[in-house]
Amino acid sequence: MYAIPFNRPSLVGNELRYIAEAIESGWVSGDGGFTKKVNALLEQELGVPRVLMTTSCTHALEMCALLLDIQPGDEVIVPSFTFVSTANAFALRGARPVFIDIRPDTLNLDENQLEELITPRTKAIVAMHYGGVGCEMEPILAIAERHGVPVVEDNAHGLFGKYKERCLGTWGVLAAQSFHETKNFTCGEGGALLINEEKYAERAEILREKGTDRSRFFRGETDEYTWLALGSSYVPSDILAAFLYAQLEERQAIQAKRRRIWESYRCRFEAWGETHGITLPTVPAHCEQAYHLFCILLSSMEQRTALIDHLKSRSILSVFHYLPLHLSEMGRGYGGKPGDCPVTEDVSGRLLRLPFCNDLSEKEQEQVVEAMGEFFEA
Ligand SMILES: *Cc1c(COP(=O)(O)O)cnc(C)c1O
Repeated sequence: MYAIPFNRPSLVGNELRYIAEAIESGWVSGDGGFTKKVNALLEQELGVPRVLMTTSCTHALEMCALLLDIQPGDEVIVPSFTFVSTANAFALRGARPVFIDIRPDTLNLDENQLEELITPRTKAIVAMHYGGVGCEMEPILAIAERHGVPVVEDNAHGLFGKYKERCLGTWGVLAAQSFHETKNFTCGEGGALLINEEKYAERAEILREKGTDRSRFFRGETDEYTWLALGSSYVPSDILAAFLYAQLEERQAIQAKRRRIWESYRCRFEAWGETHGITLPTVPAHCEQAYHLFCILLSSMEQRTALIDHLKSRSILSVFHYLPLHLSEMGRGYGGKPGDCPVTEDVSGRLLRLPFCNDLSEKEQEQVVEAMGEFFEA
């Protein structure tokens, strides 16, 4: 155990009360009262026509692949610098992930390289908003529209973030949210599918409910429900929705805490970092970020390893990510090789994430800052 962990899930107040309410209501399976409240809150706050809570972001992404009829042999453009699920959900349907490199400033997919990767087989482009800072959605959508390719947003980091005053998750035809323990808002494991084009809503409901019209049945729109299409089980228990609803109700307080921690790191490390060869990713002025993580870019992997060890010696856990997907065992199987995504390969070796969670105290943060100072000023 570390005195200062990298992440620490925290309760905001009403979680246990709402969980008890869900249990006492006698409805603990999916789509009970709390799931409806979560869906409605997200629809209203984000301005999304339809939201369906899911068992995870990975499952919401799998639903996207199913809704877009991704078939074996199709190509899906995904950043190499992202979590496995961004690519895996589409690969599971037989698509070949085509890896795109990232911009060195925001670490989001480089829209300038997008058009050259589009082929007649391209069936989707997946934009992941790294750290909750928006990808350049206007040029991305312009290119995608020109080629008739739908855009999906992996918005696991970006809930309540904005690009040009419009919420992340509302730009693509579909978007996926995560409520995993490591995200800004959590219920342990959970997710949501955001449906921005109404034409997907009916099929989404059916494939989320094992290929049946059980959702319509629950609404009293039909006397029975039956098998209509392929589907699976992507419905979370209302107990988890109760947990999540308590967190989402406190969204302003949670985001304010994260913002304070993020800004405090930035103030300490921005100018100081420059003199020690450390850089911070850029947050463009037209992006209102979601404060998902705080990372720094060091000068080399050796320096990063030494810094991680130093922080560990002070009982502070820092972590890195993402190993380039195009160089993973699966990525190489799709033809990925060193040099394909040079910025991803470079950044992946030098990026370090500092402890960051809702209730990281000022004292704990001060200890992190001090330990950083010891390392660089020794
Ligand atoms: C966490 C994460 C996911 C997966 O979320 P789950 O809810 O655990 O399935 C997908 N994409 C990104 C970018 C993530 O950070």
